[in-house]
Amino acid sequence: MNLCCGSLLTGTLLCGAMTANAHNSMESNYASLPSYNGEDLELLVDNSGTHFRLWSPESNAVRVLIYDTDRNTTAIDTIEMVKAEQGTWKTSVPEKLYGKFYTFQINHKDKWLDETPGVWAKAVGTNGRRAAIIDFSTTNPAGWENDKGPEISSITDVIIYEMHHRDFSIHPSSGIVNKGKFIALTEQGTRTVFGDKTGIDHLKELGITHVHILPSYDYNSVDESQLASNKYNWGYDPYNYNAPEGSYSTNPANPATRILEMKQMIKALHDAGIGVIMDVVYNHTANNDDSNFSLTAPGYYYRYRQDGSYSDASGCGNETASEREQMRNYIVNSVKYWAEEYHIDGFRFDLMAIHDTETMTKVAKTLKEVNPRIFVYGEGWTCGDSPLPVERRALKENVAKMEGIAVFSDDLRDAVKGHYSNATDRGFATGKPGNEETVKIGIVASTAHPQVDYSKGNNSKFAYATAPTQIINYVSCHDDFSLTDKLHVSMKGASEDEMMRAARLAQTIVFTSQGTPFMFAGEEIFRDKKGIHNTYNKPDSVNAIDWTFKHKNAEQFNYYCELTKLRKAHPAFRMTTAEQIAKHIIFDKITKDNLISYSITDNANGDSWKEIKLIFNGSNEVAEVKVKKGEWTIIAQDGKLKADGLGTSKGGKLSVAPCSAFILARTK
Ligand code: CA
Repeated sequence: MNLCCGSLLTGTLLCGAMTANAHNSMESNYASLPSYNGEDLELLVDNSGTHFRLWSPESNAVRVLIYDTDRNTTAIDTIEMVKAEQGTWKTSVPEKLYGKFYTFQINHKDKWLDETPGVWAKAVGTNGRRAAIIDFSTTNPAGWENDKGPEISSITDVIIYEMHHRDFSIHPSSGIVNKGKFIALTEQGTRTVFGDKTGIDHLKELGITHVHILPSYDYNSVDESQLASNKYNWGYDPYNYNAPEGSYSTNPANPATRILEMKQMIKALHDAGIGVIMDVVYNHTANNDDSNFSLTAPGYYYRYRQDGSYSDASGCGNETASEREQMRNYIVNSVKYWAEEYHIDGFRFDLMAIHDTETMTKVAKTLKEVNPRIFVYGEGWTCGDSPLPVERRALKENVAKMEGIAVFSDDLRDAVKGHYSNATDRGFATGKPGNEETVKIGIVASTAHPQVDYSKGNNSKFAYATAPTQIINYVSCHDDFSLTDKLHVSMKGASEDEMMRAARLAQTIVFTSQGTPFMFAGEEIFRDKKGIHNTYNKPDSVNAIDWTFKHKNAEQFNYYCELTKLRKAHPAFRMTTAEQIAKHIIFDKITKDNLISYSITDNANGDSWKEIKLIFNGSNEVAEVKVKKGEWTIIAQDGKLKADGLGTSKGGKLSVAPCSAFILARTK
């Protein structure tokens, strides 16, 4: 554990009086329950009518309630369901009930529990309290049948941009009409008052390949009936996993609108050549006893402590139990559904180590069958301890056991900018010595390399990755201080220009390292979060990106554009095997603090450049470095970077300016 989950919506912890023996017998009971994996779970509409089937293996009775509207009305019909195969209950009506809403209600231990939309609601009304019966063929934008994401051959070809819908478009300076909505990303030609591109035009200009959208399933905390009150939340409080969040739609009361608008967003991004990655949070739910899981199969979906209370590896009041068959299938089928229905190109698993390695392997395998270009990565840690044995957890240290899964490198993150939880701590890029070996671990994507000494690693002591395709490199994300804020608190007394220079060095290390680069939206224009580290429920005034920064910090933005251009033009930064890295990356012997110099040699991974020399100087002094004599093109120097070259050099003894990257390349 080394990073707490974003949301701190701690649920009520129920400390039951259950004994350890009772708990153990519960566990074996869960394992013996039948599971059901049919695609007709909960709702199916076909030519013979509307069919309901709820998995609720321990209930005494189950009924489905039919409504005319999404809220504030009484049921127009209540239908008793009959016990069916594999722990399910079912009933059918001969009509297609399009336009109606429904809930389930189960009788458990002789008590009728609260109504629930179930766990498989694919369409919902306001606040997701009732599931909706709609014709999905009406939810597809024009051209949807031919819609597809970018062709990529390896995850290392991806450049990830992590974005919250409100952060990205809500600020008045965005020039966007549908602020804070899915369809903000469908607006072309949006500009600031200074004429700078915003919205999707900005993403195209920056050159990222994929946006990673923060939770966009239906979450609990923002009241969709009171959108004028302008509430903000990251969305790490899942309510309905298989329907989009209503507050990002223009009309949460119409169940088809949020679906159509999310698809319109995805299509607009795909048309721009940009893939869409969804942040998914199956590790916990917003509620405990009154979650949709608890109201359909009480107890089954969660892990418990010996005393019978909810275990809490998520730090949010509960944790789900992926090792149980129905839960494992649920996670697998849910991401498969998003991939098929919404054409999602990748998934980011929150607190992935709460899940077991077998589940994550099955997730990756299933998604690759839907679309081989889909990839999966996650946080390879938990927030608190879990009853799941360490060896079964989808930890970053276990990434090699999970084919098709990548993990965030907290190694590179903390070594470059300073520790995430110690505000004033500095890192390699901000002049603190002792992080050099850990930065090298990041450069080689945590794979075994003859010149990297893992015993000197800050966070990990062994090469846990067997390929660079298993590693996501970053120096900041929505969690904790943004890079800008981290530099502000740790570089006291430095000027804004000096901080921006440190940000450029930090991101140059990320973008040239092996693995997949990941950046937090707005850092390309040096956005901040007003010095607040946990902004999960802070207002727009804290979280929104002020797009006038693009004018003020134009040089910074230009540097990031050149970084994406450099990476995309040169496969040497995008190797796919550990063997290539061990062969083509050669570190120079350096004894000076905060200085790293290395070469990527021999046209690595088919690169047009014979050799690339990268020198990172994180100190506040000029460093002298010897470079082989030759016909070099200077790519980066003294805080500037140009993918096509800034000038030429004959090599020899070079002076590397403080807090900057010096990058040279030669073709012969
Ligand atoms: Ca919601």
